[in-house]
Amino acid sequence: MAALIGAGAEAGQPTPAAPVASATPLPSPAATAAGDVHLSFSKVSKQYPAPSGIVHALREVSFTVARGEIFGIIGRSGAGKSTLLRTINALELPDAGGIAIDGLQVGGLDEDGLVHLRRRVGMIFQHFNLLSAKTVRDNVGLPLRVAGVKPDVVRRRVDALLELVGLSDKAEVYPAKLSGGQKQRVGIARALVHDPEILLCDEATSALDPESTQAILALLRDISSKMDLTVVLITHDMAVIREICDRVLVLDHGQVVEQGEVWRVFGDPQAPATRALLRPLQHGLPADLAAQLVDDLDGRPGNALLSLRFNGAAQPQGVSLQQLALLGPDATLIHGGLDRIRGHAQGSLLVSLPIASWQSIKTNGVFGQNFGQKHGADFIEVLGYVPATA
Ligand code: ADP
Ligand code: MG
Repeated sequence: MAALIGAGAEAGQPTPAAPVASATPLPSPAATAAGDVHLSFSKVSKQYPAPSGIVHALREVSFTVARGEIFGIIGRSGAGKSTLLRTINALELPDAGGIAIDGLQVGGLDEDGLVHLRRRVGMIFQHFNLLSAKTVRDNVGLPLRVAGVKPDVVRRRVDALLELVGLSDKAEVYPAKLSGGQKQRVGIARALVHDPEILLCDEATSALDPESTQAILALLRDISSKMDLTVVLITHDMAVIREICDRVLVLDHGQVVEQGEVWRVFGDPQAPATRALLRPLQHGLPADLAAQLVDDLDGRPGNALLSLRFNGAAQPQGVSLQQLALLGPDATLIHGGLDRIRGHAQGSLLVSLPIASWQSIKTNGVFGQNFGQKHGADFIEVLGYVPATA
């Protein structure tokens, strides 16, 4: 079938920064402008010993993230996503390769350098990791107090952050009294307390209902643009990536199998792992048709069932009806939908067409020009055939 025509549980949180004397020399590389490379991975590998042998959690992972970008990492469970994220703030150290933030090698930092690094890189977690015996105010202010910041300065900073995340009225409340979405807002406020330049999000919306997820994503987007924050987020939820990320990287068994702009990767996924991850997003074949589908009509009358996929490369605005009309007057649009990702229309339409019409279209090469160009990247796939009912 499917002939192609033409074309978890968090292991921990950053150790609170140890108090440092204000005279401590801190590595402070020159600030870079938006769009410059902010974070870079160069052939980063990480192995863990396991009873069954060595686990290759990361294998020669290379990518860059631009300043101010929202960068997504996806992959099946166990693909190495959390390990990757935790190497950025040196919660895990790679066995090989280099990680640089603004050109500063994370691997070469001494203890003071690590303290400074963890202030530049905030992190939020799936299960929020709040202290239940402390109020919202104390949860958010803790990293500053540990760093020896004066109480009145802490108070002002915490107030400003609570306002930013919309929780000014919850300062004296304990976490148990908060909804999941509110807890994550506290987590975000705490992560921003040192005014970091990178925010790491490990499945930050995975414990939330869809409505809270949307609200947290909107907050992250807002904060990212207001504070010129670079965000690296990992999730198993493809809709989150589609909603918020500029670019996405796909990890499979510790290896980068695909990366690029979200609209491109989602519109025309190349790697089998990406296709498998995206399957739930794609317009499914209605069950009644799926049940009737055969690979070959063997000369019987019937219809070809075509999937027309649009990835927004050739026609970002939408699908031309004139082009669809090339399918002829017998074509029936039976299922599908279009969506927009970062301004690019994409989606798929299911079309049913009498086999004779389909054969004549193929013979005349109509679609060779219009849909078939591999890199025009809109294409038609024959899903199968539905025999005519007698
Ligand atoms: P993901 O976040 O994509 O689910 P992880 O980065 O958590 O994947 O894990 C990648 C692989 O490394 C998995 O096989 C996991 O079991 C293994 N792993 C992760 N952390 C450790 C550890 N501390 N010790 C041993 N194995 C680990
Ligand atoms: Mg994980």
